[in-house]
Amino acid sequence: EASAKVIDGKSVANRIKVEIRAELSRMKEAIGVTPGLAVILVGDRKDSATYVRNKKKACDSVGIISLEANLSEDSTEQEVLNYISDFNNDPSVHGILVLLPLPKHMNEQNILNAVRIEKDVDGFHPLNIGCLAMGGREPLFVPCTPKGCIELLHRYGFPIKGKKAVVIGRSNIVGMPVALLLQREDATVSIVHSRTNNTKEITRQADIIISAVGKPNMVRGSWIKPGAVIIDVGINSVEDSNSPQGYRLVGDVCFEEASKVASAVTPVPGGVGPMTIAMLLKNTLISARSTILNNTYG
Ligand code: NDP
Repeated sequence: EASAKVIDGKSVANRIKVEIRAELSRMKEAIGVTPGLAVILVGDRKDSATYVRNKKKACDSVGIISLEANLSEDSTEQEVLNYISDFNNDPSVHGILVLLPLPKHMNEQNILNAVRIEKDVDGFHPLNIGCLAMGGREPLFVPCTPKGCIELLHRYGFPIKGKKAVVIGRSNIVGMPVALLLQREDATVSIVHSRTNNTKEITRQADIIISAVGKPNMVRGSWIKPGAVIIDVGINSVEDSNSPQGYRLVGDVCFEEASKVASAVTPVPGGVGPMTIAMLLKNTLISARSTILNNTYG
């Protein structure tokens, strides 16, 4: 018998979008500014194209203008840098997103470093990550997926302060920044990864588990302390002959087992995924607002 609450990321994300839309229309009325978000997509990866399409739809739904640069797989690094430079200098663009992974012949670091930190709505610029890690510093932008995880905990009223949190995974885009955020929220944080020996002994102590690994159903019921809150970032496609596409998406956490042990758990899809896009819109709004404040009063 499942007893855990299902954390509905989709409906929280929709509520956030309504809030953003309201604030954007106030902004437009008051000072005539509409935020713009530019996306640079190199090559034709299917998952990236889907993400861009969803992002565009989300921008349209709240009133953010979306711009796109689609470059072919064999473009040069300089061509990408030229686009970044144009977007950096374009006052109608408030956020710039470079979709990763880039083709192998490009230097990801050079490219990410070229994005103006004031427009780094992904929050991946080393200065933003550095500020996230330092006490008493505020990053201009917090990475979207980690921010979405914390926002879900907040909106559901799950306390973080003083709790024992375990993050599974240490990637630059999810695991590491989400661990930093939990620590800023006064959790006691452990990070486990592929070289950790006793992962489930560690996760079993957690009041909050955030999993960002990319392995279907890795986190079993026996890994979870009764009453824990589980945020499942993983998106994995597994074969499913019952579905028309022949596959379906699952998380890192075995949802059925977790539902019997945890007090709350995010589904996949419909958990963290929609929150990521909502936080991207939020970061674009924050960027537009700060440009305006700086121009007007700075
Ligand atoms: P990465 O592959 O970059 O990182 C995976 C991490 O998991 C690594 O730190 C790795 O350890 C660790 N890991 C691998 N195997 C194990 C194991 N057996 N036990 C414990 N840790 C392990 O992935 P990302 O962080 O980019 O993404 C993680 C998942 O989240 C993916 O499924 C991705 O699709 C999904 N995702 C979802 C988003 C959303 O919006 N919901 C956004 C971004 C990602 P090590 O460092 O030692 O290699």
